[in-house]
Amino acid sequence: MITLQSKNYMEIINKQRDFFKKGKTKDVGFRLTQLKKLKQLITENQEAIIKTLAADLNKPEFESYATEIGSIKEIDYAIKNISNWTKPKKVAVSWDLFPYSAKIYPEPLGLVLIIGPWNYPFQLIISPLVGAITAGNCSIIKPSELAPHTSRLASQLISEYFPSEYITVLQGGVETSQQLLAEKFDHIFFTGGTAIGKIVMEAAAKHLTPVTLELGGKTPCIVDTEINLEHTIKRITWGKFINAGQTCIAPDYLLVNKKIKPYLVSRIKKCLQEFYGDNPATSPDFARIISKKHFDRLAKFLQCGEIIAGGETNPEELYIAPTLLDHISLADPVMEEEIFGPILPIIEYTEIDEAISVINSKPKPLALYLFSDNKNLQQQILQATSSGSMCINDTVMQVAVSSLPFGGVGDSGIGSYHGKASFDTFSHYKSVLKNTFRLDINWRYAPYQGKLPLLKKIIGA
Ligand code: NAD
Repeated sequence: MITLQSKNYMEIINKQRDFFKKGKTKDVGFRLTQLKKLKQLITENQEAIIKTLAADLNKPEFESYATEIGSIKEIDYAIKNISNWTKPKKVAVSWDLFPYSAKIYPEPLGLVLIIGPWNYPFQLIISPLVGAITAGNCSIIKPSELAPHTSRLASQLISEYFPSEYITVLQGGVETSQQLLAEKFDHIFFTGGTAIGKIVMEAAAKHLTPVTLELGGKTPCIVDTEINLEHTIKRITWGKFINAGQTCIAPDYLLVNKKIKPYLVSRIKKCLQEFYGDNPATSPDFARIISKKHFDRLAKFLQCGEIIAGGETNPEELYIAPTLLDHISLADPVMEEEIFGPILPIIEYTEIDEAISVINSKPKPLALYLFSDNKNLQQQILQATSSGSMCINDTVMQVAVSSLPFGGVGDSGIGSYHGKASFDTFSHYKSVLKNTFRLDINWRYAPYQGKLPLLKKIIGA
């Protein structure tokens, strides 16, 4: 049955297909202009963006600049590199294939669907959009319904700055997502949870649509003894509690060497007080949980182990204090699923192999953090574990480096983006081989009689 809404979606999808066919988006000059327009959209509306993020998540202004308005950096990087990325690249052809020449031409995929989550509701639709524009595609964006203020503003701004046949925001919840997923796109870029990622991939498979799945998982953070304690504490506390822990690459749990655990715990407590004061509920720098459903899910985790800091909640304000949990067992619910909130379980290890075996007993995480100056240990963890990204002696900052592809592995995702990786994700690399009419070497044509020795020589058989 075609509902009125899905008919509307078809209308916009068809309009975008027609626009793409006109070939305008293939022009690199056009793409460059659109990237500049996108930057303008952000710079001219910073205040409005910050207000909506505060309304949706009580996001502090500083965090909104650092993690959402900061998408401008991705745009600048694309503007700087677009002419290089879009150039066809000549590749080598072996001597026996003389006189062929070969090139790889990047071409846009066509019409792409971007589905966003609520935790960084602006950045996580804009960043993929930068890639889609740079690679020359038309885009339909479905932001998260759980961040309604940002979703509304994104829709309004995109329609002000871009024609709908080129980029459109379609607001709505799960049904909107499902109706869109029933249609054929040339690529689907999804950011969200692993469970929904599977639904997206199943829907995409019906049309053989390629997907990028930016998912979540339990990101471990190992803390060895060879560290600068002061820096370690600040970097962990910041990465865990920014956006009230609702960050896909926040340290999910700590694996701490038994020898330093008591110092580490007491210093994290002190650091929390320095960051957010005696009562984080009154701090202007601490965000709120997105919804009652997520609040309830997180509140249940507080029954695990022993609360050694925080633990206070206020359902009316969707507030959960930055919380440290000790004496956690691996079978506790808090260790079974991604936490995605301001709760940090601390698990101790005696030998590093114990930490490695905890990590490897779980699905491959989106990120892994190691605090240690010990080069051998760094190498050991690098080699003994698999994760979307790894950051040594810091947390979260890998996301800020445009030259590092960002994405998961296994259950934490498929594909990657940021910088050149975004361009690659939204492009098809067309291999083009060219022959000449100047000569035609006869060795491959029938009759084959007498030609086998030469062929054997060529292929080295
Ligand atoms: P989610 O999977 O619940 O929702 C994401 C999007 O999917 C929303 O737009 C939603 O409308 C849509 N959706 C929900 N149910 C659907 C269904 N049944 N069919 C089709 N579409 C549906 O994720 P979320 O709660 O918004 O975000 C939290 C999750 O996202 C966490 O697991 C987090 O780790 C992950 N995440 C990953 C990244 C990354 O870059 N890898 C970034 C941010 C968040």
